[in-house]
Amino acid sequence: MFSIHWLKRICSRWDVMADNISPEDRHKTMKAVKGRCTKPERCLFSMLAGMRLKNWRKNADDMVGKPDVVFSQEHIAIFIDGCFWHGCPHCDRKLPQTNREYWERKIHRNIELAKQYNRKLKKAGWKVLRIWEHEIRNPAERKRVREKIRQAIKQAAENQ
Ligand SMILES: [Zn+2]
Repeated sequence: MFSIHWLKRICSRWDVMADNISPEDRHKTMKAVKGRCTKPERCLFSMLAGMRLKNWRKNADDMVGKPDVVFSQEHIAIFIDGCFWHGCPHCDRKLPQTNREYWERKIHRNIELAKQYNRKLKKAGWKVLRIWEHEIRNPAERKRVREKIRQAIKQAAENQ
């Protein structure tokens, strides 16, 4: 017979979640995290489309860290970092009241992973751009992001 205990034992990931927070709490947190702009990646995609840039592709699942966008020719990888999930220092990220430790640990892990991915990609000759979720949401900041991307493309072209 399948029992919950057995299931918990074989699925460590679920185990961690289940031990720390109730499903309602988890659901509430996920909802709060999503906030106003549900898909920051989409904001990036439409921004790039608006810039009339070519030769980029979405969700490079075959690459280290799965960048949200890559310019294969220019060797530029772009990530959107969620302000909550990556512990944005500029945003007042509210951790759930309960299980703070769990969320802190999770966020810390995301930050460490991102650093690892950056290192690996750079080593393989990629330029990595990390954009905060709040930057892509805010029109004024988005302007700066556009500059940054154009600059990176220009540089890549000069180096080729
Ligand atoms: Zn932020």
